[in-house]
Amino acid sequence: MNPHRHDIEKLYAHLHSSAQGLSQAEAARRLARYGPNQLEKIGGQPLSIRLLKEFTHFFALILWLAAGLAFFAEWREPGQGMAMLGYAVVGVIVINGLFSFWQEYRAEKALAALRNLLPRHTTALRDGRAMQVPVAELVPGDVVVLAAGDDVPADCRLIEAFAVRVNTANLTGESKPKSRATTAPIEAEQVAMRRDILHAGTSLISGNAKAMVYATGMHTEFGNIARLTQVAQEPLSPLQKEIAHLSRLVALFATLLGVLFFFIGQSIGLSLWANLIFAIGIIVANVPEGLLPTVTLSLAMATQRMAKKNALVRHLTAVETLGSATVICSDKTGTLTQNRMSIRQVYFSGAQLFPDELDGAEPLYDIMRHCHDLRRVEHNGQQQWQGDPMEVALLQATPAGTTYPRVDEIPFDTERKRMSVICDTPQGRMLYCKGAPETVLPLCNEMMAEEGRLPLDDESRLRIMNEHELMTADGLRVIALAYRSVPQQSAHREAGMVFAGLVGLVDPARPGVAEAIATCAAAGIRVIMITGDHPHTASALARDIGLGLDPLAIIGERLCTMSDTDLQLLLDEPVLIFARTSADQKMRIVQALQRKGEIVAVTGDGVNDAPALKCADIGIAMGISGTDVAKEAADIILLDDHFATIVTAIEEGRAVYDNVRKFLTYILTSNIPEIVPYLAFVLFRIPLPLTIIQILAVDLGTDMLPALALGAEKPDSDVMRRPPRPRNEHLLSRGVLLRAYFFLGPLEAVAGMAAFFFVLHGGGWTFGRELGLHDPLYLQATTACLSAIIAMQVVNVFMCRHPVFSVFSRGRSFNRLIVYGIGFELLLLLLITYTPWGNALFGTAPLAGEVWLFMLPFGLGMWLLEELRKALIRQRIARNGTAGNTVR
Ligand code: ATP
Repeated sequence: MNPHRHDIEKLYAHLHSSAQGLSQAEAARRLARYGPNQLEKIGGQPLSIRLLKEFTHFFALILWLAAGLAFFAEWREPGQGMAMLGYAVVGVIVINGLFSFWQEYRAEKALAALRNLLPRHTTALRDGRAMQVPVAELVPGDVVVLAAGDDVPADCRLIEAFAVRVNTANLTGESKPKSRATTAPIEAEQVAMRRDILHAGTSLISGNAKAMVYATGMHTEFGNIARLTQVAQEPLSPLQKEIAHLSRLVALFATLLGVLFFFIGQSIGLSLWANLIFAIGIIVANVPEGLLPTVTLSLAMATQRMAKKNALVRHLTAVETLGSATVICSDKTGTLTQNRMSIRQVYFSGAQLFPDELDGAEPLYDIMRHCHDLRRVEHNGQQQWQGDPMEVALLQATPAGTTYPRVDEIPFDTERKRMSVICDTPQGRMLYCKGAPETVLPLCNEMMAEEGRLPLDDESRLRIMNEHELMTADGLRVIALAYRSVPQQSAHREAGMVFAGLVGLVDPARPGVAEAIATCAAAGIRVIMITGDHPHTASALARDIGLGLDPLAIIGERLCTMSDTDLQLLLDEPVLIFARTSADQKMRIVQALQRKGEIVAVTGDGVNDAPALKCADIGIAMGISGTDVAKEAADIILLDDHFATIVTAIEEGRAVYDNVRKFLTYILTSNIPEIVPYLAFVLFRIPLPLTIIQILAVDLGTDMLPALALGAEKPDSDVMRRPPRPRNEHLLSRGVLLRAYFFLGPLEAVAGMAAFFFVLHGGGWTFGRELGLHDPLYLQATTACLSAIIAMQVVNVFMCRHPVFSVFSRGRSFNRLIVYGIGFELLLLLLITYTPWGNALFGTAPLAGEVWLFMLPFGLGMWLLEELRKALIRQRIARNGTAGNTVR
């Protein structure tokens, strides 16, 4: 059957349902029969292909090349142990591939789990009552009730429609809103032309609708399209791209170095196999094997930490962009305030009254009772009003009375700042209107007074606007109420109305907002309030939450007449509020900020906010009050709608970047003590102090867990006391490079080489004497070099926890993973050194106690020197007065 072509009654009969929807029991039966209303995950790469990819990417290929060289050397000169090396490198490729695969799988699972944290609900009629139902549980025959901003949850046929317009871009690619006004059958074949149908995957831009579901899940038109298209993979974030680029660069550098030294070795007459060992060693030592998956995992872990703090990240990219945000443009109602409204004051019949002093205010009550978009729904067995808290406050302040049927409505939008409904009452058809006083009052020509209805002359208008100003100066949110009777055939116009009164509501600031604003100030992040409310109300709140004592409030009307240059100049103002703004102006402000080089986070909840959310660097939608449309356009969803959550998320975003730098410093440091032995081997003709397998033991064994632990560090205590990171700053900054390659690395290299010679000299070795590969003295000496590097890396973990703070600085949170990481590192070292199979595998021998004692001063020395370096930098920062990101 084609639901769009038939009478609605026929559809009821076909689906065995009615305008009252289904019973719970029947819905459950149908759910079992038709399955959940979900799109099946299709496409994506099979696991086996993805696993294979881990063994064939760029690094793996370099390592395969290294293994190939080893086997080649074994073939040319058998018996030198090169085959063993080849197998070891293959082992590395396998372990590394599996490890990366596991990390990526975990990261993906973590992201998928996040998506499920926000189950989608819709309002459906069950057992004749409206209730919240998970979208996945909708079945054919259900009747859904939809309002502006809602996603259409399944393919439905309209039963009732008021001013419904839908965005069908997802389905037809057409971005212009389409009207879906008719409930009568349509002959059209084209999906876009079926004006009596709401399709899944589209969303309501305006209006209210009641519709019957006739197709769910993969049976919807959208399901059909989803079947055809592949599920797109999440694109790499800039950080991931930078890491990939960086790793490639390092690997290329390593390979070139390897090849270069191969020829140097050849020219100074080293044997081929010695040369090959050398080339392979240099390559293996430098390839940053597990770096990219570690970054991905640390991003994914950050998203999980953020989710625990009520910020749901929809794209990994958002995590790092957040860390560099310089401006937050925040809504007022619900984000900075509690959105828990109560009526404080009413201006009625020429007098300011408390809500309980209202007498004979029937027309006022009629407007408050009828002019709203609330829905009565069942939630956890209780009947509740769902919708705008201001409307709830207005409705709940009315005494019990009859509710008249609604025949039409003119919906609210931020442009008009008012809404109206038309009801059939015993007195005839009435239009009830409420909205911002300056938009409602000009449409009135009479007013209610004690004497009855009076003409609204200029003097009265002035008086009313004065009263309005007084109320807003007290921080009240003021709404004007008006009505008129509408003759049956006339158009439903908001004009010639009777002004009924002003209602002033309070909406207190949310607890924690003032602290969050102070944190932003310390972190160099500007907060700009953008609200649809009156400038006085907004300024009063701004003072309340410490945004500024004397904020400059710009109203939307002024913004309209302002040139882009003027706006840009205006944005230099330290404390700024935009009041009475509409959604498209929000977008203009965001763009002007971006042109000034700011990185802008913007909040939004309504349908009209979607463009601003999309255009901002970080779009933040409200989880509770936000529409589906806004959530879809956002990068981050605030589960608690709270401003303070944005600030916490920024803190986590900054921490991710810091953490990646911490483990990068840690990993890069050990490259130097791994390269130096090879240089010494070639240049000074000494026995090779560190074998390739031992390098692998460090890079893929002992270094792995501590690096991961550094990637999971909690935000540093100073993270919100520094200015935002410049957008063009690279991860591998000069600071990181200098510290790892030219400070910590050489110190470790000195320790490794010193330990090597300490053992050799102790055993009576003299310069120029050759040592056999299995000579116990040689085995002990390389073990000493390896152990010294690992011991220095243990010290290094603590030093890498912060680039500037001392190890003993207060405020360091305890990181359990670091303890595990070091425990694992030391355990591996003991196994490598003191077990027979460890000795056999890694070419090592047990060390005497004095060797360990010999290493101690090196560890202490590195620590002291690093503390000194940090102290000097802290001093410089204190002197310059900035927290200077450049030194990090
Ligand atoms: P914010 O933009 O910070 O969330 P806001 O809720 O005041 O603040 P809008 O939703 O754009 O911003 O509302 C603008 C104005 O429109 C309000 O100040 C109020 O006067 C009026 N208004 C808001 N909601 C309604 C409504 N449901 N019905 C009628 N008028 C409304």
